[in-house]
Amino acid sequence: MRTLLKKHKTLLITNISQAVTFEGVSKKKGRFPKKEELAVLSNAAIICKNGKIVWVGPAKEVHSFRVSTKIDANGMVCFPGFIDAHTHMVFSGSRHHEFAQRCEGKSYLEIAKAGGGILSSVQTTQHAALQDLVTQLKKRLLFSKSLGITTVEIKSGYGLSLAQELKCLKAIARAKQEMGLNIFATFLGAHAFPKGYAKEKYVADICQKMIPTICKQNLATFCDVFMDRGFFNLSQTKHIFRTAQQYGLRLKCHADEFQPLGGTELSCALQAQSVDHLISITAHGIAALKKSKTTAVLLPGTSLFLGKPFAPARKLIDSGVRVAIATDFNPGSSMTQNLPLMTLLAATQLKMTIPEVLSAITYNAACALGIESEVGSLEIGKQADLAFYEIPSYEYLPYHYGQNFCKLVIWKGIPTAV
Ligand SMILES: [Zn+2]
Repeated sequence: MRTLLKKHKTLLITNISQAVTFEGVSKKKGRFPKKEELAVLSNAAIICKNGKIVWVGPAKEVHSFRVSTKIDANGMVCFPGFIDAHTHMVFSGSRHHEFAQRCEGKSYLEIAKAGGGILSSVQTTQHAALQDLVTQLKKRLLFSKSLGITTVEIKSGYGLSLAQELKCLKAIARAKQEMGLNIFATFLGAHAFPKGYAKEKYVADICQKMIPTICKQNLATFCDVFMDRGFFNLSQTKHIFRTAQQYGLRLKCHADEFQPLGGTELSCALQAQSVDHLISITAHGIAALKKSKTTAVLLPGTSLFLGKPFAPARKLIDSGVRVAIATDFNPGSSMTQNLPLMTLLAATQLKMTIPEVLSAITYNAACALGIESEVGSLEIGKQADLAFYEIPSYEYLPYHYGQNFCKLVIWKGIPTAV
């Protein structure tokens, strides 16, 4: 990737075949996205000034503006920069050997008993130096950016002790300083229980030591808990969430993935920003979500990778729940950063329409991070984060899957060629 220019007063991008603005989706806060709400402008131009969008409209009207720099989009399709709202991108090591064992018929439980699973990534991440984690993370972020992703949420959770969780969050903070991307850190100390540790003692450590220290150092925006069978239960999650809120962290929850334990209902009651996974969500959980401002983040890559059922996206969307899609990029259950590929899975497996799918990685994903007033649509005053795809129409994105057609990414008005 090559940064085209760093400093400019006003940047005009012209000759855009379609600018998918999401103006109508934004007006309806991401619920029931329909084709007309994508508000697609044909033969469009966009003007950016000081990192913000200052004008979007038909290219033929652009002559009255004075611009310092001009980019010809050569008929590409322009989307708002994509948003990956759920990743576990900070880890060291690989679990391809476990994947090979699974392909030979071994169960996840057998692999975990032999030292595999989350705790094997914890071990390799604990052994990695901070600088190694930063280097690996930056490499991954650069790849995400090459796909047109301009915002990434990154969870800790492969440290599982105060010092190690701090190391993971510091790696995220360092990458945030050094990369041209919007990065949001989530503290996920409650990802699993560390080996040889009493469960209640670990929950007490999270609440009494980790959350206060992390907040003092301003290292996270969100707090997440893996609430499921064999992981954190309802009362432990409630305790962690209440503490996190007292320290000013916003909430996210891994809920209803394997078994519905009330995670969605609890998260909605506590006004969490998002609940994620939801493969086993109940009618009661859907009703709670519908009444709340919480966004449902579905992770179809995980279902594909583990051979599990897919989340009931249709039921959620038809009930009026706002749905986002993310990669869940992690070494154990979804080893992909390819958010555009998730749009294919959302269309074919979650039975979502193209407007629903595209809203799920832009405006709705922004809602899952509480940043929808800044990014997620091409509207005047929003941050100039843009992804340009060399495709004949916006509908082509999920259709021609597995290949990268992104040729130009603009973050805060700074263009980078892919
Ligand atoms: Zn996850």
